Amino acid sequence: MRIDLHTHSNRSDGTDPVDVLIAHAKRDGLDVIALTDHDTADGWAEGRRAAEQLGIGFVPGIEISCKLNGIAVHLLGYLPDPSYQPLADELRIVRDGRTDRIPSIVARLNGLGVALTVDEVLAQATGTPSVGRPHVADALVANGTVADRGEAFDRFLADGRPGHVSHYAIDPGRAIDLVREAGGVPVVAHPWGRSSRKVVTAETIAQLVDDHGLAGIEVDHQDHPPQARETLRGIARDLGIIYTGSSDHHGIGKIDHELGVNSTEPEQFERLLEVAKANAAASATTGPEVYLP
Ligand code: AMP
Ligand code: ZN
Ligand code: FE
Ligand code: FE
Repeated sequence: MRIDLHTHSNRSDGTDPVDVLIAHAKRDGLDVIALTDHDTADGWAEGRRAAEQLGIGFVPGIEISCKLNGIAVHLLGYLPDPSYQPLADELRIVRDGRTDRIPSIVARLNGLGVALTVDEVLAQATGTPSVGRPHVADALVANGTVADRGEAFDRFLADGRPGHVSHYAIDPGRAIDLVREAGGVPVVAHPWGRSSRKVVTAETIAQLVDDHGLAGIEVDHQDHPPQARETLRGIARDLGIIYTGSSDHHGIGKIDHELGVNSTEPEQFERLLEVAKANAAASATTGPEVYLP
């Protein structure tokens, strides 16, 4: 069983349409794929349809933009009911904030002497409700300023670089509550990734488990070197929570994140499905269902 629980389509900042992403997952021999676009459930219906046609397991998810002490933290929510109003309202505010910051990013880049317009950025984000820095990067590639997304982040867009403008994001504890109320399973994405390692300590993880019912953490991720993975796995075991592994695939938008480069152990996936069942039963919502062929 090869299970990849974190991928992006072009409904957010991945480069593949949903059906192409699912087809690639099948081609690459995955048994289960979760679609976890940033702050949107837009691709779920199409993903499920494609997965049913091809006979590959499909888990609907969302990667929710959170912020702790001003630092970006990402929360994966598996199988929440996206129509649960408090969750839907928060996600809409996040998406609006993503779009609203584009003029400020463009103004900063213009101030650095880089030619770029808001329309050029939005042209890279047609069909997605969730505009991100990678779309700014794509616009910079398209007009010849940089060679690829990586160069755009290194020179302009990474946290701390001159073209970075943050956007509204949700408190992680609140986001965990919302996912659970919506019958879903909350898992912190890449806790020791680039930005979040500054604020997601072992104590923070324990607190999110105790106070909010965090169900798991993503352990096997390309942002985590081997030692970090083992330490995080130990933290998960000590706390009795789930640990996952995934690619965080973005199509051709992110190198070294090929589908299935990391995967989730079947026992951990089984636990995740059990938590989903329990949270769905405890919630007043009717969530989506996992598809397993
Ligand atoms: P945003 O959602 O607008 O804050 O942008 C964050 C997104 O940019 C995340 O999905 C990251 O995967 C992506 N990202 C961050 N650094 C890089 C990089 N060096 N190259 C490509 N994508 C990146
Ligand atoms: Zn992304
Ligand atoms: Fe992320
Ligand atoms: Fe991601």
